[in-house]
Amino acid sequence: MTVSLKSLIEGWEGIGVVSRYDQPTGSWIFIALHDDTLGMPTGGTRMKVYPSPALALQDAMRLAAGMTAKWAAVDLDFGGGKGVIAVPHILEGEERHGLLLRYGQLIESLNGSFGTGVDMGTTPEDMRVIKQATSRVHGVDPETGQTIDPGPFTARGVFAGMRAVVRQAFGTDDLTGRVVHIQGVGDVGAPLARMLKQAGARIVLSDLDTRRAESLAEALGNTEAFEPHTALEAPCDVYAPCAVGATLNAETIPELKCRAVVGSANNQLATREDADRLHERGILYGPDYIVNAGGAIAFGLRGRGIVDEQAIAQRIDGIDTSLTEILKESSASNESPVYAATRVVERKLGKK
Ligand code: NAD
Repeated sequence: MTVSLKSLIEGWEGIGVVSRYDQPTGSWIFIALHDDTLGMPTGGTRMKVYPSPALALQDAMRLAAGMTAKWAAVDLDFGGGKGVIAVPHILEGEERHGLLLRYGQLIESLNGSFGTGVDMGTTPEDMRVIKQATSRVHGVDPETGQTIDPGPFTARGVFAGMRAVVRQAFGTDDLTGRVVHIQGVGDVGAPLARMLKQAGARIVLSDLDTRRAESLAEALGNTEAFEPHTALEAPCDVYAPCAVGATLNAETIPELKCRAVVGSANNQLATREDADRLHERGILYGPDYIVNAGGAIAFGLRGRGIVDEQAIAQRIDGIDTSLTEILKESSASNESPVYAATRVVERKLGKK
């Protein structure tokens, strides 16, 4: 099914969309503002080559809605928003620098309606460039100008979420010998692999960048790297999607050979029905926006002046407790954890 910019904008329940065509680079910029009930719409900026501008906008909208849920679930007073820059090809050097500066100017012109940070395709260094044009950037220390990578914080949160899910699925959160398939070993997947390895898990890796997967497998030792196209069929206890969204869909779910899914990727379910498909197959799913909130927690707290590392770590580890409550509720009602998580968000947004 093809989507058009018009139908997407007309049909969206969010606040609105800011769009800009960046003539010098041929890139489309979309800032999707979803909800400001709890505070200023805030979310990362994704830079990617998309098949069409409409698909980039659709991604921005879905990701912005996910941010609304994420901030509400972790009790931080930000709203849901997301930036997507659809580039014609991967930009580098002066071209990239210029685009990022113009993007920063666009954010600045919104007068505090949107704040951003890194997401797939952008780096902490990119945030330093954007910050030259606007103060609405998370992940750059205002005093030292040093950039902060959210990946390890997010990985810590996924680890905490995995403990909660494994405890519910297997009756113990001891990860010794548990086989975890990590799909995508970038900023989040790689530190997650190291944490899991240290906790005694057996890791199976896959990445489109096969060299990246192989070199991490070698560094970790006793770790297998799979070809990306066969990886979903690999038997494991836990599948951890840490790359792209929508890997859980009508085609893949029947093929999964795992007992649980817990990972960092945003929008892991292609459709809402996929939550039920997983549940029917007895595969326990840790809702993505609950599990992958570690980076948001770290940056959100820093944005509120809390820089104590231990306090931040403790708050991220709290993902275990909040997810455990969601899993208990969903087990009692015999439904996917997605429904209990949605109820938590709706309560916090004052919608129920
Ligand atoms: P990244 O770009 O650093 O790493 C992603 C990795 O996945 C890369 O190594 C890439 O080669 C690989 N990859 C891409 N497509 C793949 C595919 N189809 N199969 C296998 N491997 C594939 O990204 P990241 O920052 O680690 O983020 C990973 C996911 O987690 C994204 O969906 C992102 O939106 C989400 N997320 C990240 C953060 C964060 O703090 N970085 C926070 C919340 C959510």
